[in-house]
Amino acid sequence: MNLIILGPPGAGKGTQAKKIAKKYNIQHVSTGDIFRETSKSGSDLGKKLQSYMSSGALVPDDLVVEIVKERIVRPDCQKGFLLDGFPRTLVQAENLDKVLLKENRKIDKALSLDLSEEEVVSRLSSRRVCKSCGANYNLITQPPKNGEICDNCSGELVQRADDNPETIKQRLKVYRDQTEPLIEYYSKTKILVKIDGAKSINEVFKNICAVIEEK
Ligand code: AMP
Repeated sequence: MNLIILGPPGAGKGTQAKKIAKKYNIQHVSTGDIFRETSKSGSDLGKKLQSYMSSGALVPDDLVVEIVKERIVRPDCQKGFLLDGFPRTLVQAENLDKVLLKENRKIDKALSLDLSEEEVVSRLSSRRVCKSCGANYNLITQPPKNGEICDNCSGELVQRADDNPETIKQRLKVYRDQTEPLIEYYSKTKILVKIDGAKSINEVFKNICAVIEEK
């Protein structure tokens, strides 16, 4: 089973993707995580990626497509994959279709998490991420048990560099202009399923599982 999870920043894509990948034993591929990891290396590529991310801009299509193409042919993706944060533009979606067609594979469902812009801003401003293990928290809806320390590994919880008001505004604009058209793209091929992302983590997950398991 191959899935895509779409939605504005802060809609809960990463949180749900981790749960889906675990339950259905498919590989979670997050382009944002790949870029954040690469940018830590401090290489020239890493610095370039960091500059796109910190301004809220998208990384150029050709670069993203190459990275994803290489990633989804690896053995761990043969059991199925869940793409989180990709595609984000029509060009990326078309390229993904081409690559999969060549390999006789396809996307089974595109899960679109709906969330109002007001809710996006509120969620991203209160999001915290563990510096060590990458676990996600929300100070309002999903707070850590002990202050700003990770429940899993006691790592320090920090704010993502792109979760500041200016960058959030820019990321929302980019989402509206470049990513939202994908909703129509995947409706046309009848694989799009809309899910209310404003519900609790467990309710959203339950609704996603129902969609995945429906015959
Ligand atoms: P995310 O963790 O999915 O919110 O991604 C963080 C940042 O990584 C985005 O704001 C973009 O700068 C970059 N990024 C992630 N995925 C993509 C993509 N598919 N296309 C272009 N840029 C991306």
